[in-house]
Amino acid sequence: MPIKRLTSGFLDFKEKSYEAKKDFFLKLAERQQPRIMMVACSDSRVDPAILTNTEPGEVFVVRNVANLVPPCHQDDAQHGTSAALEFAVTALEVEHIIVFGHRGCGGIKSLLTADPNLGAQNAFIHNWMNIADEAKRRTLIIARSQPLEVQLKILEQEAIKTSLANLLSFPWIRERVDSNNLRLHGWHYDLYDGNMYVYVPENDRYEPLTLELASRLQDS
Ligand SMILES: [Zn+2]
Repeated sequence: MPIKRLTSGFLDFKEKSYEAKKDFFLKLAERQQPRIMMVACSDSRVDPAILTNTEPGEVFVVRNVANLVPPCHQDDAQHGTSAALEFAVTALEVEHIIVFGHRGCGGIKSLLTADPNLGAQNAFIHNWMNIADEAKRRTLIIARSQPLEVQLKILEQEAIKTSLANLLSFPWIRERVDSNNLRLHGWHYDLYDGNMYVYVPENDRYEPLTLELASRLQDS
């Protein structure tokens, strides 16, 4: 009974969390002031709030297929991710944007294989995933002779780098990054080993998140 799971889950939350921290939630009802935005995947296994142990109000999240950021295009199409970015950056004035990818991403897999999990009707997915075309090209140069699993992991990580570059195509992001009012991060969560891998631009590689890396990131 999937809906029963949610209705009883909500009632449990209301009784144990909301009522216990009512002042906190009433204050939140007045306004949100998150300092961090995440662009995460819609995948049910990688909920950013759960994986980072954060509370309501702390992280402004947009989730889409394969946690992609499109380049800045001002046209008549409906750009949901761009709208969320615009609100987070220009209205909420978040200080960090994290592009948050993960191992075993179905959207990324569809770029390298005919994914049986995708239905025949995938025109929207196909068009959306074109954002990662350049990342796919780079991956096939780096890892053409590698097994598919390795290629997929590299492509997931390269696609995060593409999204970080695309973030800079939005003028209101670029100017805040240039003036040090906004920082961009790329994270890749590995469901197999339970580690978070953080993109370190100076080394152009992903490093496992440890206390040491966390303090280095804090200081930089
Ligand atoms: Zn995914």
